[in-house]
Amino acid sequence: DREVDHATSDGLVGMAATGETEVRVPAYNDLLTYLSGGGYKLLQTVRDGTISIEALMETMQNAGLRGLGGAGFPAGKKWSFVRSYPAPRLMSINGDEGEPGTFKDRYYLESDPHRTLEGALIAAFAVEAERIYFYMRDEYPAVLQILRTEIAALEAAGITPPGFIELRRGAGAYICGEESAMLESIEGKRGLPRHRPPYIAQIGLFGRPTLNHNVETLWWLRDIVEKGADWFANLGSPGHPGIRSWSVSGRVRDPGVKLAPAGVTVRQLIEDYCGGMTEGDTFKAYLPGGASGGILPASMGDIPLDFGGELALQGAFVGSHAVVVFSDKDNIKDAALNLLKFFEHESCGQCTPCREGTGKLVTLLETKGTLDEAAIRDLETVLRDASICGLGQAAPNPVNHLLTHFREELSR
Ligand code: SF4
Repeated sequence: DREVDHATSDGLVGMAATGETEVRVPAYNDLLTYLSGGGYKLLQTVRDGTISIEALMETMQNAGLRGLGGAGFPAGKKWSFVRSYPAPRLMSINGDEGEPGTFKDRYYLESDPHRTLEGALIAAFAVEAERIYFYMRDEYPAVLQILRTEIAALEAAGITPPGFIELRRGAGAYICGEESAMLESIEGKRGLPRHRPPYIAQIGLFGRPTLNHNVETLWWLRDIVEKGADWFANLGSPGHPGIRSWSVSGRVRDPGVKLAPAGVTVRQLIEDYCGGMTEGDTFKAYLPGGASGGILPASMGDIPLDFGGELALQGAFVGSHAVVVFSDKDNIKDAALNLLKFFEHESCGQCTPCREGTGKLVTLLETKGTLDEAAIRDLETVLRDASICGLGQAAPNPVNHLLTHFREELSR
């Protein structure tokens, strides 16, 4: 058994939950079904040189495909960075999907897992990676079972050599979704984010140049190459190339994974994709990017949602595209406090600003009477400027927006 349980950020070893409980696996496209739809033909054409690596990389760059785990780094550029460092190289797939409100990767792996697996094998071939480490969160037992079965089927069919794709189980630490902490975890260590530079493209897993991709990024690869870069880019909205999978939840009639253009607004997501607000609810606020991306008021519901741009000017970001919708029945101070407590709990404790600062922000916000806003703002700056990784840097986003946009809630 090549699976390994991994240390959490607390240094504890996770339970092998999938081996101990019955797992209900949904109906999905297995290898035979995927092959019957033309699956793995693209991999073959890449392997036999019918499509050159250079042409493949150009297609990826022209399509404008971004890393869809949260960072949004252009996928094609990542390949050329990794290839610029000497072999041997490795590849990892981040299936940790721990950002609150995000469930798109689970949806894809529970319905059509070979799209991601074929994308991974093509990407690994492109950067000449010697092995793929697939890091999957243990909270998705059905996905783990599917991957176990389908990786074995790929090996039995001779599509991959035995052991080429190694499945690794995470153990529930949010920080292990941060790419360098994930690599530490795969190496069998505590999941602590690394200082950068060096970036993992140069020194990654076991000290080797490493290509890391999110599940959904790889999922799009086959379609982009088969249908063309323009096809993908034109599915976006003006100035925002490409289509994205939005995990929409909260007070909407029809929550779920919605395929919508990059640059869609939350108002469009609610009205055109989710059937409007739930009965009796009035749209009040939203999280554009899970717990980390901040909380914006409904008055900012027409901002195009994409990496950077107007969202960044508001101190918010789209991250893993998890949109959570609040209504007039929700208290935004409670929501901000809830998110801060989440960050306090999930802080790996490696650096002082985040380890101490998240807890102090919770205490300051819970204080009865007038809030010490100067102290809160001061802590915000320290966390943003001096934390090692994105968790600490993004932790003050909800409280920043609470003080800026929801002042009427402060006295509640
Ligand atoms: Fe750990 Fe927080 Fe520092 Fe990131 S910012 S390294 S989560 S303590």
